[in-house]
Amino acid sequence: MHELSIAMALVARIEEARKEAGADRVARATVRLGAWSGVQAEALAMAFPFAAENTGTAGARLDIVSVPVKLHCRACRGDTEPDTILAVCGSCGSDDVEMVAGRDLILETVTLE
Ligand SMILES: [Zn+2]
Repeated sequence: MHELSIAMALVARIEEARKEAGADRVARATVRLGAWSGVQAEALAMAFPFAAENTGTAGARLDIVSVPVKLHCRACRGDTEPDTILAVCGSCGSDDVEMVAGRDLILETVTLE
């Protein structure tokens, strides 16, 4: 299961932050999940408690904030949010675009106990 390995990598990053801070437990973590990251928010939420088992992150709450895709167009220099799965500029229709948001899973905050 793809999301379980993602959740395990996420827990590893949370655990790093916890150990750095010298805390015993993690109360809560917030991640920003891009709409085109390829990760299903529900599947990640389900996998998280399993990945956190036997770590200081066990029992922590995971908040997932979804991030819409944003494209930057090199032709007209506009930034648009596509409403289809096609990576084309919403202003001029050019496909010379760069995805500036929406692809990543970012660990935003870790709340320690
Ligand atoms: Zn454009």
